Amino acid sequence: MARAVVIGAGIAGIATSIRLATAGYQVEVYEANDYPGGKLTQFEQDGFRFDAGPSLFTMPFLVDELFEEAGKNPTHYFNYEQLPVVCNYFYEDGTRLSAYAQPTAFAQEVEQKLGVPAKVLEKHLHNSAEIFEHTHQLFMEQSLHQAKNFLNLDVVKSIANMYKMHIFSTMHEVNQRKLKNPHLVQLFDRYATYNGSSPYKAPGILNIIPHLEHNMGAYLPQGGMHSITQSVYKLAIELGVQFRLGAKVDKIMVENKVAKGVMVQGREVLADVVVSNMDVVPTYRHLLKNEPAPEKALKQERSSSALIFYWGMGATFPELDVHNILFAQDYKAEFEHLFELKKIYPDPTVYINITSKREKNDAPANAENWFVMVNVPGNQGQDWDQWITETRQSVLDKTSRILGKDIGALIQTEAILDPRSIEQKTSSFQGSLYGSSSNNRYAAFLRHPNFSRKIKHLYFCGGSVHPGGGIPLCLLSAKIVSNIIKEKHGALVTTQ
Ligand code: FAD
Repeated sequence: MARAVVIGAGIAGIATSIRLATAGYQVEVYEANDYPGGKLTQFEQDGFRFDAGPSLFTMPFLVDELFEEAGKNPTHYFNYEQLPVVCNYFYEDGTRLSAYAQPTAFAQEVEQKLGVPAKVLEKHLHNSAEIFEHTHQLFMEQSLHQAKNFLNLDVVKSIANMYKMHIFSTMHEVNQRKLKNPHLVQLFDRYATYNGSSPYKAPGILNIIPHLEHNMGAYLPQGGMHSITQSVYKLAIELGVQFRLGAKVDKIMVENKVAKGVMVQGREVLADVVVSNMDVVPTYRHLLKNEPAPEKALKQERSSSALIFYWGMGATFPELDVHNILFAQDYKAEFEHLFELKKIYPDPTVYINITSKREKNDAPANAENWFVMVNVPGNQGQDWDQWITETRQSVLDKTSRILGKDIGALIQTEAILDPRSIEQKTSSFQGSLYGSSSNNRYAAFLRHPNFSRKIKHLYFCGGSVHPGGGIPLCLLSAKIVSNIIKEKHGALVTTQ
């Protein structure tokens, strides 16, 4: 039986281990933390449960696929519901808007609240669906770095349709041209942040993202986001994957340009294939110190990071739903702060996620578990302690102003996550949430491939490589990498 070692038990690492185990590989996963999941984890504090990282779940069928691949019924492990309201939006001028999951209801809301004819929004969502249709196979389902993938007919059609995909305009320029209303433009510009980018720089093709949320749906797993980790971890163990938790990999062993295994706490572990789910930058800088690094890929601008306040609130807020956005007044200035000045904007857009709206066990009675996040630049040694104090105050001011209550007085318990702690807990370079940013039109091609071009038998999955960050893309990276491995190594004999 061929033997695979996976470095890291993030969602992509676990998904890869499942796919390789079902293909007959003997899989060992080495994870530095004493828990699986990487960014997709949780914690409890003073009677409140908080999802520590991701809060928005789209394309749930990609999780189901893992169970189906293993011949299991997904619902025996993992269940989720579609949210009736995707997000509630709040603007400083008092405008409030609910983005209903039902596209026609959302279009009516936009017509009523913003005076934009419903058909404008419907057309925009239709356009987003079209981008998905024409691009998902090329950009999401297969390696972008294998010439053979460009020879199939569907991909040829995608390339022929590329001129319709707005690659030469920014997301903001497209939204401005098509939607015009400043509030609606801001709402759709925000989708650039779903991969940690700026709408003023990211290409219009990224207007594919609203399709995932509005046409395919936003979901909440039963038990919160962390149940994604718990369920796939359970499945992997059932399939015989061996998890070594608290086992940091120190080195990838390479002989004559072939990966031979890993070095863990002074011990050599041999393998036929090595898959790194660790961020690609520290993989090269720390585990492959003696090998030439693909500098161009490693030097791509990183996506934004985040500052999160986890607040146990001693009150309930009927005007809020699971996902809520309190917009900055000057969005352009906010992104200039993030990507040019590398600072936190003084009046940032505030995202509030409250799973206890639907998961009643996540907070005590008459209380709510608030996950309050602002986008911030990556960690480059800034004075985070000072910035956290200042930003905490501006977030309190903004939420109190918009919700008309003294929010600070209602906080019963608090925890904080910042770019330093994200980097320290997951090895994510600069604490970026989504690997490299999509702030230029070639970003997809410049992202590191799912395999090493220089070292045979070395592969990559996860948010810092193709197709990019976020749970759905990480799950797709697992699919892509395991397909490549199966193609290339299907017949390998074990090293033992
Ligand atoms: P990671 O989760 O980065 O895990 C990598 C693992 O590798 C870690 O467990 C780490 O300990 C381990 N590791 C590193 N070095 C070593 C080593 N030397 N030896 C052994 N193990 C090692 N995505 C969404 O889809 N929706 C959201 O709403 C969303 N919001 C987010 C909010 C926050 C605050 C954060 C942090 C992320 C968010 N994301 C969101 C992004 C999403 O969480 C990530 O893209 C995804 O979870 C990354 O998974 P991954 O498999 O790449 O690995």
